[in-house]
Amino acid sequence: MVQGVGFRPFVYQLAAKHNLKGWVCNTSGDVKIEVEGEKRSLGRFLKDLEAQAPPLAHLEDVSVTNHTPQGYSSFEIRHSVAEEGKYQLVSPDIATCQPCLREVLAPDDRRYRYPFTNCTNCGPRFTIIEDIPYDRPKTTMRSFKMCPLCQREYDDPMDRRFHAQPNACSKCGPTLKLVDGDGNTVRCGDVLATAARLLNEGRILAVKGLGGFLFACDATNEGAVKLLRERKRRPFKPLAIMVATLEEAKKHCVVSEKEAELLNSSQCPIVLLKRKGSSSVSPSVAPNLGYLGVMLPYTPLHHVLLRETGLPLVMTSGNLSEEPIAKDNDEALRRLKGIPDYFLMHNRDIYSRYDDSVTIVELGKPQIVRRARGYAPYPVHLPCRSRQILACGAELKSTFSLTKDNYAFVSQHIGDLENLETMEHFETTLELYKKLFRIEPEVVAYDMHPEYLSTKYAKSLGEREKLPLVPVQHHHAHIVSCMVENGVADKVMGVAFDGTGYGTDGRIWGGEFLIADYKGFERVGHFEYVPLPGGTVAIERPYRMAMSYLLTLLGKDALAPDLAFLKEVSSQEIDLVVKQVEKGINSPWTSSSGRLFDAVSALIGVRGRIDYEAQAAIEMEMAADERERWSYPFSVVERDGVNVVHFKGMFSGIIQDLKGGVAQGMIAMKFHRTMAEVVVLMCLRLSARNGIKKVALSGGVFQNRLLLRLTVAALEKAGFEVLTHSKAPTNDGGVSLGQAVIASFAAAR
Ligand code: ZN
Ligand code: ZN
Ligand code: FE
Repeated sequence: MVQGVGFRPFVYQLAAKHNLKGWVCNTSGDVKIEVEGEKRSLGRFLKDLEAQAPPLAHLEDVSVTNHTPQGYSSFEIRHSVAEEGKYQLVSPDIATCQPCLREVLAPDDRRYRYPFTNCTNCGPRFTIIEDIPYDRPKTTMRSFKMCPLCQREYDDPMDRRFHAQPNACSKCGPTLKLVDGDGNTVRCGDVLATAARLLNEGRILAVKGLGGFLFACDATNEGAVKLLRERKRRPFKPLAIMVATLEEAKKHCVVSEKEAELLNSSQCPIVLLKRKGSSSVSPSVAPNLGYLGVMLPYTPLHHVLLRETGLPLVMTSGNLSEEPIAKDNDEALRRLKGIPDYFLMHNRDIYSRYDDSVTIVELGKPQIVRRARGYAPYPVHLPCRSRQILACGAELKSTFSLTKDNYAFVSQHIGDLENLETMEHFETTLELYKKLFRIEPEVVAYDMHPEYLSTKYAKSLGEREKLPLVPVQHHHAHIVSCMVENGVADKVMGVAFDGTGYGTDGRIWGGEFLIADYKGFERVGHFEYVPLPGGTVAIERPYRMAMSYLLTLLGKDALAPDLAFLKEVSSQEIDLVVKQVEKGINSPWTSSSGRLFDAVSALIGVRGRIDYEAQAAIEMEMAADERERWSYPFSVVERDGVNVVHFKGMFSGIIQDLKGGVAQGMIAMKFHRTMAEVVVLMCLRLSARNGIKKVALSGGVFQNRLLLRLTVAALEKAGFEVLTHSKAPTNDGGVSLGQAVIASFAAAR
């Protein structure tokens, strides 16, 4: 990755240092350098080239050839040349660098408070690029003509802004505009100061950032936060906040060294941090959770706004609950109408939607939960060269992956593929990646679930273009995505815990033990099947899963009316669920661990109805009291070489504890410990037979940090090597990567 990261000026300065003549030039595929001079200097130049490259540059490969000297009299930076079929890695958008921030905050600087300040080391990249090579005419900056001062910076190889394509200042660059809820421009002398004042007064603003609009309001103002939730129709889903500095973040949360590093990194993601009891952030920002999603400002606009309000601000996706983030001004005015009081917009167009990335630090390493801004479209390295494959991903937290050479270009987070708007976002983003990386898919991989929009898209594309289709089992894809990012190719024991994944038997899987490699898998164990009463309704109402487990494992008598969780369910619904479970009406079988977590959460009174995915499990994790050392009994029964985990003992134990008045937190903890013990016992049993000592953990349920910690510790204690996620999400955002690799191996055969 050598474009838009200050690589050519670096080469220029390096050539000058070693007294070499020649040229440097960006092409569509790479950067070419021709230098002539003393042999010793050439050697040093080459060494420095690799050792001292700018921080954002990645040198994947350097190849050297010898030529007869041309007798150049100087060293120059030549214009980019486009080459047919070649491609180049594209930089993600990068948070404002320190030198730029200093200028923005210095009253005597010409860029004081200028919200679109950037340089070759920072600023927008991916979100403004329409095609390669990366030059201003191929970005959404093309409509702005640089003033003489900016042009001079742009032309000077010794300047930090040499060939900084989005270079701008208040004289020549993009400008801000404040608009009220009806789209009328608010006349004010200083837009940023006015916006800051409105936020201080408790107003809700839609702020156009790098990759789309974010809703902003005072995070310490309970009324404002509640109003935003009401208008956005999101009663519970946690909202991210932005604070001005790392010191400010430490006032609200516990921040470890690694977390501080991540907050301050050039990717500048949201980091989920343990909230301090003393924080002034309103409880409505993240109801019932012990964590706050915190990020630092990543554009000058955010830096100035945060400093001038002096507040932590809610900064959450500018969308209605399930839709993609709004990116264009007119689109925002239309789609977001009624939610913000004002729109803070600007006239630099966003070419690709780009959500904020979400990360955690667990097991001592960063883990990406939602991969977008700052990370995509930087590729994941593949174990070997691959054909050009399109992997369409799953449904929730959708991404796609395109492969070429040794790379998998995993798209940024697209969203839940449940509506037309998100599907459109999927398709336009796919077109952009195909164009940028010059990929024409030869094979299409997709999830086996027949109802996913991504599956339907894959099938119609395959038919239309006459491309081979490779269906991939959901949990196989999860496990392979974990293997790939850990660089492991030999067989592993894969433990895939998630909510929903279509199985090869047509049932809904999700508590799975697989022996897997890139070529295939064998399902050697799973959680016992129970009915999912009412299908998706049971996902939205975890109490239905609690009833399903009790009815199936303990019989109708277990549904005693004195069970507290049944009090929130109408007697008609109880009767209906009993009938559905007993007669198997509209109740597909599932071995999902996500549903098991839901069932226990509802049963012990944590949550019976949810507003966002996995809410019941997340709140139960928060409730768990780590002092509890005990767990519940369970059993494993082998049939035809498949080990099935049975939970009758556990549910009896939980009912007993509930009757005995054991605290909710203790039961929740005992349940988590039981889950870790299930994994270890199963892995011991399976490894005794096949000798595999590597375990890969994947699937959305492993976003549960308590479960992940307990499981990894117990597996390591039992002598296993454990692979976990770091670069690709453990949730369904990672599925497309696994699909791509599996299809690449299937297509090679
Ligand atoms: Zn900069
Ligand atoms: Zn200018
Ligand atoms: Fe999944």
